[in-house]
Amino acid sequence: MVTARTDKSKPGIAGCSRFLLPTDTPGFRVASVHDKVGFRMYLQGELDFDNVKVPVENLLGGKEGGAPGAEGVEAKVELSAHALALSRAALDAAIKYANERVQGGCPIIQHQAVATMLADMYLTLQAGRSLLWRVASMTDMGHSDPALIPATKVFCADAALKICLATMEIFGGSGVMRELPIQKYVRDAMVFQHMDSTQQVSRIKIGKILEARSKEGRLSR
Ligand SMILES: Cc1cc2nc3c(=O)[nH]c(=O)nc-3n(C[C@H](O)[C@H](O)[C@H](O)COP(=O)(O)OP(=O)(O)OC[C@H]3O[C@@H](n4cnc5c(N)ncnc54)[C@H](O)[C@@H]3O)c2cc1C
Repeated sequence: MVTARTDKSKPGIAGCSRFLLPTDTPGFRVASVHDKVGFRMYLQGELDFDNVKVPVENLLGGKEGGAPGAEGVEAKVELSAHALALSRAALDAAIKYANERVQGGCPIIQHQAVATMLADMYLTLQAGRSLLWRVASMTDMGHSDPALIPATKVFCADAALKICLATMEIFGGSGVMRELPIQKYVRDAMVFQHMDSTQQVSRIKIGKILEARSKEGRLSR
C-alpha cells in the first residue's frame, strides 16, 4: 500500500491518497531494507519509484479519501497497547526469574531492593493500562482527546523502556545474553521512543494544546 501526494495544495496527509501497488509493477523496486536495533521483523526501507503507473481501480477509498492509517489516532492507541504488551511480557519474566534466582541465601524477590523495583514496574504498567483503556474507550465513542492520545503514547512508550530496562537489571548478567529474550525486549522498547513522533515532539505538541486551552480558560481539563 502506497501513500502518495495527489493534491499539492492541501497540507500533510490531507493531500495524499492511498494505492495498492503490486510489488512486480514495472518501475518499482525495494532499493534497500534498513537494519534496526529493535522491531527487526517490522521492515523499513527505501522504495524506488521510476515512472510507475498505477491503474485507477487501485485507488483505495477514493482520491484523498484513504484511511488515515499510521498518521491517525488509532496508530497511537495501537502503539500504546503494543508498548504495554511488551511491558507485561518483561514484568512477567522479571517476577518469574526473581522467584527462581537464589542469591544471598534466598530468592532475589525477597530482597527489598528487587521487590521495590518490581512494585514500581507493576504500578507503571497498571497506570499505563488505565490510561490506555480510557483513551481506547473514548476513541471508540468518537471522543478523541488530542492531548490525551499523544500523552498516552508518551507514557506507555516510556513505561515500556523503564520496565524492560528494570527487567534487564533484575536478570543481572543473564539480562544481556543473546540466548534470553530480555535484551530483545529492551531493543524493541527503544524503538517505541521514535515511532509515530519522537517523545519530545509529542510532548511539545501536548504543551501547545495546553497553551491553546489555557487561552480558552481551560487548564488541565
Ligand atoms: C520503526 C519505525 C516505524 C515507523 N513507522 C512509520 C509509519 O508507519 N509511518 C510514518 O509516517 N512514519 C513512521 N516512522 C517514522 C517516525 O514517525 C519518525 O522517525 C519520527 O516521527 C521522527 O522523525 P525523524 O526520524 O524525521 O526525526 P526528526 O524529526 O529529524 O527528529 C530528530 C530529533 O530532533 C527532535 N525534533 C524534531 N523536530 C523538533 C522540533 N520541532 N522541536 C524540538 N525538537 C525537535 C526530535 O525529538 C529528535 O530528537 C517510523 C519510524 C520507526 C523508527
